[in-house]
Amino acid sequence: MTAHDCGAGAPAGHGPIRTTASLLINVSTLLQEPIGSLRHFEIDGARGAGLPSPVSGTLRLLRTDQSLLATAELTTSVTDLCGSCLNDLVLELDVDFDEEFWPHVDAITGMALDPPPERSGFSVVDGQIDLSEAVRQYVEMSRPMSPRCVEDCPGMEIEEPSEEPADPRWAALATLKLTTEGD
Ligand SMILES: [Zn+2]
Repeated sequence: MTAHDCGAGAPAGHGPIRTTASLLINVSTLLQEPIGSLRHFEIDGARGAGLPSPVSGTLRLLRTDQSLLATAELTTSVTDLCGSCLNDLVLELDVDFDEEFWPHVDAITGMALDPPPERSGFSVVDGQIDLSEAVRQYVEMSRPMSPRCVEDCPGMEIEEPSEEPADPRWAALATLKLTTEGD
């Protein structure tokens, strides 16, 4: 058990909230518990494969009849380019999902399980679930097609050649400047 148990202050009836800095969660015990069993996690700055930035938020795992249902409310960030001015920007993203994780063996009998052929979701591997791939997929889905560094980004500054005659007061200054530079 790698999760740190900090049950103090947990809401009544929800069991302890475990704090973890990993997206790899050990579920071998939960898989042996009755349908409806729950685990609550606080994910704090977890790194995952294919994820550019740490992930934080809450995770609830529910034991269903055949799988584990993971309900995640997470935040992370990605870097991108502003679609208007092409400057670098950092996007804060909310990544919320419900995904099922399917075990391939029965946690109690050790017998191989055949997940339903129409299943969608992810696998329980060696008694663990890895949220990294689910988070990566939802990050890709939730990032905007053409982000902006600021609302109403004016775009790239293009200097237009001025056809207007210069203000004579500025023209006088320009002459002065040329004279000074000539020294
Ligand atoms: Zn911009």
